[in-house]
Amino acid sequence: MSAMTSESWDVVVIGAGINGAGVAQAAAAAGYRTLVLEKNDQPALETSSRSSKLIHGGLRYLESLEISLVYESLRERELLIRLAPDLVHRQTFHIPVYEDTRRPQWMLCAGLGLYALMAGPLKNRFHRIGRKAASAIPGLEHKGLKSVFQYQDAQTDDAALTRAVLASAVSLGAEIRYRSALTRAQVRPQEIEVEVEGEEGSRHLLTRSLVNAAGPWVYPVNRRIDPPPPMAEPDRVQGAHLVLDEPVERAWYLEAPQDGRAVFLLPWKGHALLGTTETLYRGDPSEVHCLEQERDYLLEVQARYFPQRSTRIIDEMAGLRVLPAAEGRLFTRSRETVYVTDDPRSPRIVGIVGGKLTVYRKTGEQVVAMLRGVLPERKQRARTDQLPLRPA
Ligand SMILES: Cc1cc2nc3c(=O)[nH]c(=O)nc-3n(C[C@H](O)[C@H](O)[C@H](O)COP(=O)(O)OP(=O)(O)OC[C@H]3O[C@@H](n4cnc5c(N)ncnc54)[C@H](O)[C@@H]3O)c2cc1C
Repeated sequence: MSAMTSESWDVVVIGAGINGAGVAQAAAAAGYRTLVLEKNDQPALETSSRSSKLIHGGLRYLESLEISLVYESLRERELLIRLAPDLVHRQTFHIPVYEDTRRPQWMLCAGLGLYALMAGPLKNRFHRIGRKAASAIPGLEHKGLKSVFQYQDAQTDDAALTRAVLASAVSLGAEIRYRSALTRAQVRPQEIEVEVEGEEGSRHLLTRSLVNAAGPWVYPVNRRIDPPPPMAEPDRVQGAHLVLDEPVERAWYLEAPQDGRAVFLLPWKGHALLGTTETLYRGDPSEVHCLEQERDYLLEVQARYFPQRSTRIIDEMAGLRVLPAAEGRLFTRSRETVYVTDDPRSPRIVGIVGGKLTVYRKTGEQVVAMLRGVLPERKQRARTDQLPLRPA
């Protein structure tokens, strides 16, 4: 690949999901000339609009002992509640405990106590509602009910948050091009030449560094780089959500009777959001959709706890988690972000594999810190931990 081009950037980011937005914001804040390329005609049309929409430490990750991930996520949660009050709000979650619940009450107390401690004083106090008061909660099955635990976390609109972070990046000088897909990248001694397929055909540009934030496409995009950084093919795990017509007042953390997984029932835009599932996915990422068995599974969870609730589905969504290839049950596999680089000492290319919406800012900062060695001196414009975010 070789074509004349005069266009030159410090950082080119592939993908305008939350991770690409986070990298673009961090890079632009650090003063770098930053370009985001997105194949779709808008940001956040893929995974970053199909999540459970939680800005959370991840109570369940304590069970898989991902202590540092939970700690970091709780720090980011508190920061986002402060920086983006119109986009991220505190939410009280409820965990009902029955005679046949797999996790005993002492385990929930220990987990919620540790979660509260890690969030910092007064940030995450939890309460136990006794049987009598819990049985009075409208709609909740009270046969066999022992108690309901209450704890604090936060909720967002994932796509709106992504748009806000991108708008922040643009206000700091970053540029975004939609309908622009990376088709090839050639690594040369001084720069990386990127081929972009857009509405006006194929174009070439030069960059000092390249960030692959293509979410479920991270592996195919990696293979388009010559030579490709050493990335093992990650697993893609489908997660479905149903939007149910009948609103729900409280946020619920439910133990699925089928397999003990956590399923959320959340207030969502005047309705209820029920999810999620975990199904290994091997197809084309653009064709992911909610499966019949996922609908049945989720509605069965709701019926166990709220037998009278309507099952009328008004919308549904399915997204793909990218999990670094490993052994073990999908539910307990690590959610830590893995970075794949062309050179561990002085990377020019970084691929983001996995991760969470909650820690997008930290991910962006980490990627920029990794690339700093190959980037020119630029004047810092802002700090991402001090930049307010507003709905775009
Ligand atoms: C079901 C589910 C529930 C989740 N719930 C939560 C939660 O509650 N809280 C939480 O913190 N995290 C959650 N996560 C994780 C979180 O949603 C993801 O980590 C995050 O959204 C991934 O963002 P991304 O930017 O990496 O990917 P994406 O949002 O998928 O963005 C990738 C972008 O790259 C673009 N792209 C791909 N190929 C190219 C190309 N060749 N050229 C140009 N552009 C390209 C795509 O069009 C896309 O816009 C959940 C994930 C799933 C699947």
